[in-house]
Amino acid sequence: MSTLRFNAIKKSLKRKPILVKEKQRRSEIFGANVFNESTMRQYLTKDAFGSVIDAIQHGKKIERIVADHISTGMKEWAISKGATHYTHWFQPLTGATAEKHDAFFETIEGGLAIERFEGGQLVQQEPDASSFPNGGIRNTFEARGYTAWDPTSPAFIYGTTLCIPTVFVSYTGEALDYKTPLLRALLAVDNAAVAVCKYFDKNVKKVNASLGWEQEYFLIDRDLAASRPDIVQTGRTLLGHSPAKGQQLDDHYFGTIPNRAMSFMMDLETECMLLGIPVKTRHNEVAPNQFELAPIYEEANLAVDHNSLLMDVMEKIADRHNFKVLFHEKPFAGVNGSGKHNNWSLSTDTGVNLLSPGKTPMSNLQFLTFFINTIKAVHENEELLRAAIASASNDHRLGANEAPPAIISVFIGEQLTKTLNELENVTRGKLSPEEKTDLKLNVVGKIPDVLLDNTDRNRTSPFAFTGNKFEFRAVGSTANCANPMTVLNSIVAKQLIDFKEEVDALIDNKDMKKDDAVFNVLREYIKQSKNILFEGNGYGEAWEKEAKKRGLSNNKTAPEALKAKVSKKTIALFEELGVMNKVESEARYDIEIDEYALRIQIEGRVLGDIARNHVVPTAVKYQNVLIENVKGLKEIYGNDFKKFAKEQLNLIEQISDNIEAINSNVTKMTAERKKANKIEDAEKKAIVYCNKVKPLFDDIRYYCDKLELLVDDELWPLTKYRELLFTK
Ligand code: ADP
Ligand code: MG
Repeated sequence: MSTLRFNAIKKSLKRKPILVKEKQRRSEIFGANVFNESTMRQYLTKDAFGSVIDAIQHGKKIERIVADHISTGMKEWAISKGATHYTHWFQPLTGATAEKHDAFFETIEGGLAIERFEGGQLVQQEPDASSFPNGGIRNTFEARGYTAWDPTSPAFIYGTTLCIPTVFVSYTGEALDYKTPLLRALLAVDNAAVAVCKYFDKNVKKVNASLGWEQEYFLIDRDLAASRPDIVQTGRTLLGHSPAKGQQLDDHYFGTIPNRAMSFMMDLETECMLLGIPVKTRHNEVAPNQFELAPIYEEANLAVDHNSLLMDVMEKIADRHNFKVLFHEKPFAGVNGSGKHNNWSLSTDTGVNLLSPGKTPMSNLQFLTFFINTIKAVHENEELLRAAIASASNDHRLGANEAPPAIISVFIGEQLTKTLNELENVTRGKLSPEEKTDLKLNVVGKIPDVLLDNTDRNRTSPFAFTGNKFEFRAVGSTANCANPMTVLNSIVAKQLIDFKEEVDALIDNKDMKKDDAVFNVLREYIKQSKNILFEGNGYGEAWEKEAKKRGLSNNKTAPEALKAKVSKKTIALFEELGVMNKVESEARYDIEIDEYALRIQIEGRVLGDIARNHVVPTAVKYQNVLIENVKGLKEIYGNDFKKFAKEQLNLIEQISDNIEAINSNVTKMTAERKKANKIEDAEKKAIVYCNKVKPLFDDIRYYCDKLELLVDDELWPLTKYRELLFTK
């Protein structure tokens, strides 16, 4: 009997939900561990408070002397809440969060000690960060990197540590993290959008990008997960036969949340409340043991930080409830994978959502302007947007059964499609007063009513308009949202800059009225970006063929897709906007392409190990049982034994065939891996891993899964899908 598997099953079946009580109203504890505005008012001098607010709202620099006041206030608050340490909290290019704790505690003369935290320690730190990926930017022995406080994302206490959100840059100024380019992209879209808003409302001074992510995940019993070396090492199952019952009955989706999962969620949500993460929605997802969590949307930089923090918190709380949380995009074959929809919109400091139709024709023209510019931006940059969500793990999801395909397209719904068709026929040049009135009354003016009908949502679209926001659905569940958000906000910024130039040119050179100019430019944009609009079903060859005709890219694998990150066009785009220079763009590409190869390499090793050292020996063991049985039958029945041993003999042969196939495929894979490892060029190496190594996984798995069905269940060492997925 396989002890690890059966012990794990025994343990998992005995578990009881760990009861969690919510003692206080959520509104009362919300943000209790955050150094937010109201806490700052309490702990900071008026000047210090004003200075932080100025930094948040206008990007003003905080003077060193003021920083000393702020750090003192922050320290007092943190200590009053039981914190003993502080850390600069940042997001290096590993995608995870990084922290190195330092105690407030310091010794002074006379054998005494105090708690100290100075402005300098708040504002800047120099972590020994030589082991973070840097894509060659930072020579490990020379230049160092430093972290610098990002006042736009408030400090918070996690456990007993004061966490200060920071950027991470090299001494030569290059970004070594996810946050730096995101902040630059947000600034770019702010400036570009404010300039366009001025056509409609002179009072707009700031435009914020909003992000509302939806995090999907699996919860698997901790011991069951720990009994699977593939889950432990790669975050997903590399083999495992589908259970008789998967998700075909659709009985999990939106069903009652199982008790243990519910306790986990309540615990998690309490922690989120304390940390100021405004989580709101929880439900079962489509696959068994799959769930989703979504917050109320926030300013994009804060939302990105909150998602990174959340993923960390989830792992810790899951542990408390004897779960392992799987963020992998495709932890189980045959059932749905996980994504992280990024709901995105732009809103002004005057309180207007620029992607929500308003009450007047003028505000609707503003809506249409941002709506159509976003579509155009996606059209012009679909390949870069695809690159922004590319990873080894998301490859399993894009184009698979449930997820948006690898082809980027935009879904806007029938009604808005009609609106765009009408706008496409707007007269060239100046518009007659009648046409303008008609447009305002019958086209632009009708949009709010129209949108009520926009409920017919197309779940297969990777980028869908859903009433007052765009929903970027192709983002993977493991992703750091900063990456897609940097790209989306950058391409929209660039598009808005171009738009403004074109409209201004018509106003200045063709003596057009502003409205006429806007209608004229939008008309051309609609024509130019038609190819990206797609309302149909994104799966299957029909759309692939059609997309090809339309000139849309269809980069199915990460190595193919990632190339767009270093195209001339991309590098120029990021340089023009000041989001990333060429070195930074190239470094990121290098890191991602490297990571791709490494991940496939690890999976290959793990699969080889499981196949050869777990599956094959088990199959041999069972085969020996069968052989003994056949020998016994022969003893009893002599030459007649075949009459009774037919099935056994058949099984013995089948097992041998499968073992042979596994061994030859693992040998093949190892040889391909060795060949790949000899390749110096990282891009070529990744492509070989993708096209030569990875395809063998399926073959190896196929024969292993066959053996799972043949071998005595009592002997099988790997916890089966039905146990992983249906233990609640
Ligand atoms: P679903 O897509 O699952 O039907 P919703 O559309 O209600 O769910 O919302 C999903 C997410 O979109 C939530 O995080 C929500 O806060 C966010 N969201 C709603 N409005 C906006 C907006 N204007 N900008 C960005 N995100 C938004
Ligand atoms: Mg959604």
